[in-house]
Amino acid sequence: MKKPLASSFLQLLLYMRPFRRIYLSATLYSFLNKLFDLMPEILLGIAVNTVVAREQSWLANLGFCDLKIQLILLGLMTMVAYGLESLSEYLFSIRWWNLAQIVQHNFRMQAFEHVQKSTITSFSKQKTGNLLSILNDDINQLERFLEEGIDKIIEVIGTSIFVGSIFFFLAPQIAIFVVIPIPIIIYSTFRFQKKLSPYYLNIREKAGLVGAFLANSLLGLLATKSLVAEQLEKKKLEKASMAYKDASFNAIRWGALLVPIIRFVILSGILVTLIYGGKLTIEQKLDVGVYSILIFLTQRLLWPFTEIADIMINFQRVMASTQRLLNLFELPTENSPDNIVPIKGRITFDDVSFSYHNHTPSLHNLTFATEPGQHIAFVGATGAGKSTLLHLLLGFYLPTSGKIFFDNKEIRELSLPGLRKQLGFVSQEPFLFEGTIAENISYGYVEATPEQIIEAAKNAAAHEFIMRLPEGYDTIIGERGQNLSGGQKQRLAIARAIVRNPTILILDEATSSVDNATELAIQRSLSKIGQGRTMILIAHRLSMVKHADKIFVLKKGSIAEQGTHEELLQHDNVYANLWKLQMGETLTHPELIID
Ligand code: ADP
Repeated sequence: MKKPLASSFLQLLLYMRPFRRIYLSATLYSFLNKLFDLMPEILLGIAVNTVVAREQSWLANLGFCDLKIQLILLGLMTMVAYGLESLSEYLFSIRWWNLAQIVQHNFRMQAFEHVQKSTITSFSKQKTGNLLSILNDDINQLERFLEEGIDKIIEVIGTSIFVGSIFFFLAPQIAIFVVIPIPIIIYSTFRFQKKLSPYYLNIREKAGLVGAFLANSLLGLLATKSLVAEQLEKKKLEKASMAYKDASFNAIRWGALLVPIIRFVILSGILVTLIYGGKLTIEQKLDVGVYSILIFLTQRLLWPFTEIADIMINFQRVMASTQRLLNLFELPTENSPDNIVPIKGRITFDDVSFSYHNHTPSLHNLTFATEPGQHIAFVGATGAGKSTLLHLLLGFYLPTSGKIFFDNKEIRELSLPGLRKQLGFVSQEPFLFEGTIAENISYGYVEATPEQIIEAAKNAAAHEFIMRLPEGYDTIIGERGQNLSGGQKQRLAIARAIVRNPTILILDEATSSVDNATELAIQRSLSKIGQGRTMILIAHRLSMVKHADKIFVLKKGSIAEQGTHEELLQHDNVYANLWKLQMGETLTHPELIID
């Protein structure tokens, strides 16, 4: 997905099209500023000419014969030049800063929205820390470039054009020596930097890896501490950080070569102006004032060009960042039609198979149907495919073959957000957000009234523990709900799923971390809140599923048996043996449940 430098820059310009009025006027003011910036040097030349040539000076030739008037005029012109320079600097600065702020904000929002819309398959291939580093560091690089970097590029181009033109106008014989090296320098710097471009992309990638490692490692800090693996983590960070350092060093080592070379080439221009220009002046072929202007201007040329290497390095860096950002926009997104249909709760799986990333199939030819309001359960060993089945129901993945229907509409014909709004899903490891208990329960359903929130919490057997918290429903639960126990988090997640009154309630091991008494309370609530809505249950503890209208036993991605609790017990197959195991009875066929 690597793009050439120019293409990234063009894409950036294309992206900034809506703000072209800002960047075009900023570019104009930057150019004008560089022009006004050269005025003092020209005025110095005019001053030299005035004091040397006096009554024959250029100003005298323009009709200002009085020497005093000439000096006053010089003073006025200097003031105007400085005034215009300051004004244009102010005008371009606010425009570039404004653009930088708008672009970084818009880029960040759009990139975030794109990541949110990306398919679970493409998202799961990304490292969170790397995404963080793109959304933060890379966008910040872009911001800095627009704030400062781009004006520097205009300075190099503008100064070269203006100084070159003045040289050609005043002394073409010297201009050839001073101006010709400029395009050569720019071209060779560009070529040289282009060769360095992979080095800069490498730096950004290594920085992304450091970010990815840090995010992952800090998330697992508890595990690291408990397993006394701090040294291991430190070593891993050291490796990632060293790789970043080496990548930077490699790029800088080559990049830093440029400055001395460029200095040397520019110096040749200065020497020619000094010596050859001096000779012409002595021979009276060149005016002293012109000679002064040329000397001052060659100095002015030196300044931006000694910075050209830095400018190019920054340009490379920011283009590498832009490229990473643009690549993010290439992540495939979830595309579903706008067809929002109220569903009644009938679910049909028609010969559905599914495999992750072309691995061995996790689900094989599943066929089953539920009627609206029915409660069905899936049981089976870890890895049997239960969560995968739920992920397909939620439209996180599409079947590799076969079809899933809600009522009589195939999932591919439905709007996924529209469908998900009608599903209440409680995952195995519920994710809670920083905020209050009430905010977490109404998350994604902000229209929930305080009464609805409390009712949902009561139905999820969470109300009592919430009321015991210092601030009740206004208690802040900390990042990822770290101030709560596993069981409390699960109950909040159940409340969050039911507050929106979903047509279909999906519970994936929703009671795995609660004690038996709480499970009983949740079970009672579920039989109440489950009335009139389809419920899909996954549970290890069979006590949770025994009241289901139908239980499916999954084994290695296929339905091994199905029926009600009583029917399955009579089969004396997998389910019956799992039940005996949980009841502490002797197993008749242990081989059925042990892989
Ligand atoms: P269960 O919920 O019954 O424990 P899962 O649905 O989580 O089972 O897993 C079913 C199979 O799919 C397992 O072999 C598991 O390794 C595989 N699997 C689950 N999630 C992924 C994933 N994101 N990528 C690749 N394979 C996966």
